[in-house]
Amino acid sequence: METRLIDGLALSNRLRGALRERADALHARGVRPGLALVIVGDDAASRVYVRNKVKACADTGIYSEHVELPGDTSEPALLERIGALNRDPRIHGILVQLPLPGHIARERVLQAIAPDKDADGFHPLNVGLLATGQPATVPCTPAAVMALLESEGIDPRGQHAVVVGQSNIVGKPVAHLLLQKGATVTICNSKTRVLADHTRRADILVAAAGRPQLVTGEMVKPGAVVIDVGINRLPNGKLVGDVEFQSVLGVAARITPVPGGVGPMTVTMLLANTLAAAERQATAGAGSASSTVRA
Ligand code: NAP
Repeated sequence: METRLIDGLALSNRLRGALRERADALHARGVRPGLALVIVGDDAASRVYVRNKVKACADTGIYSEHVELPGDTSEPALLERIGALNRDPRIHGILVQLPLPGHIARERVLQAIAPDKDADGFHPLNVGLLATGQPATVPCTPAAVMALLESEGIDPRGQHAVVVGQSNIVGKPVAHLLLQKGATVTICNSKTRVLADHTRRADILVAAAGRPQLVTGEMVKPGAVVIDVGINRLPNGKLVGDVEFQSVLGVAARITPVPGGVGPMTVTMLLANTLAAAERQATAGAGSASSTVRA
């Protein structure tokens, strides 16, 4: 079987054109969409991710504010900064780059972001809305996975989807989105006894374990669609996914490469979430202004 690559970079470029038009439409209404990117400490990978996001914002016509805080910033100081961003009318979306230093409680920080400005969709309100099938800000990487499937014309309805990994930011929300689309979903974690018993039954296999090349060709059902979320750097510096790419070629029908698959689409979904937040806030602002006039 010939395995086709799902090109996340090409899809990303196509979608970003449409996002640029949405940003232009907001500019025409006098609104400059704005995203705050908050980073605490000097984690090298996080810095690269934030730099990429800042550049993507600039390319799309989104104002970005890069808030860099030292690694010893206290939790109250970080919460105060988030409070200020919540109140800042130039900012429509807020992202706190994870991981945070160990002395800061991630959940308290994510809860401090105003749900309407929650560009990553990690606030418990958005998590709950997503879990109950209501309109929500969807986390960027899970949204990227779904957009990649959709771009390939793959309908999850009735298919068996297996998600390897159950994190709050990738595995669980991906599983919810697949359930909403009518898939039968299996979620695996680090305690799953024989992983291959599950992955071999997947029509759609989403690998999000953060374990380099965990999924090999013999663990994949012939003809499956494989979405590799993992980003892992090997000791030799090479970037690999959670899937052993070479051994899956010829087995899967389609696969996302690493790099060039889910990664660029994740940033595109962040831009989309920011624009949606700016559009919502601009409309709400216009609504309250007109009701003030009526009053
Ligand atoms: P995470 O928080 O470390 O979660 C990993 C999950 O995988 C956990 O639920 C863990 O199970 C499970 N797991 C670990 N080893 C396993 C095994 N051998 N078999 C089955 N499940 C196993 O990681 P994450 O934040 O979800 O990220 C996952 C990967 O995606 C990482 O490589 C990360 O770099 C990448 N990522 C990529 C993007 C992108 O834009 N492409 C965005 C976000 C993350 P337990 O719950 O039992 O511990």
